[in-house]
Amino acid sequence: MALRRTSSSEPPFVLVGGRLWLDFVNTDDARLGERVETIASFERYVDWLAATGVVDADRATALQRRAVEQPSGAAAALVEARRMRAALRSLAEQGRSDSGARAREHALSEINRVLGRSAGTRRVETTDAGGYARSFVAVGDAFGGLIIPIVESAVDSLVNGELARVRSCADRRCPRVFVDVTRSHTRRWCDMATCGNRAKALRSRRKHRA
Ligand SMILES: [Zn+2]
Repeated sequence: MALRRTSSSEPPFVLVGGRLWLDFVNTDDARLGERVETIASFERYVDWLAATGVVDADRATALQRRAVEQPSGAAAALVEARRMRAALRSLAEQGRSDSGARAREHALSEINRVLGRSAGTRRVETTDAGGYARSFVAVGDAFGGLIIPIVESAVDSLVNGELARVRSCADRRCPRVFVDVTRSHTRRWCDMATCGNRAKALRSRRKHRA
């Protein structure tokens, strides 16, 4: 399982969604059936952006410093990010079904609201791993633009027709979502090491009893 621990006391980020926007939805997580907010502060939001490679370490440090100087701007950006996350969660959970029209509509209007007010420069840059990545350098509001790469990732899934492959974990107590890119379209669990294993253990216990 892809776990990124940033500070020992905070719940680690779980990156099992397969797409940036799905990993972002999964920041609203659960542990042992209890809901856990893994981006409880703007600082943690920036930690997550750094853990997923949306911002590099230097930019993350600069953002953290700026957030101390502009706490209300940072707080507002976190509220906005969580609002987008709620819309993206509905899209991930209900978007592919026939009854998901409202979720799709709402997500589109939230996405377009963010895209419509974003001003900045799109760039393509080389990554440390030797590949290429899109980036968006916001002008003006430094905090508001942070959500753009997440929104762009959702747009990519919509445009590529990938919404049909987005799933919720088969464990009903687990809120995680992911994209099923298996050839057989049979991925059921967010993560084999946790939910998948629990289900397997339960099956074998039942079999044993029978
Ligand atoms: Zn799960």
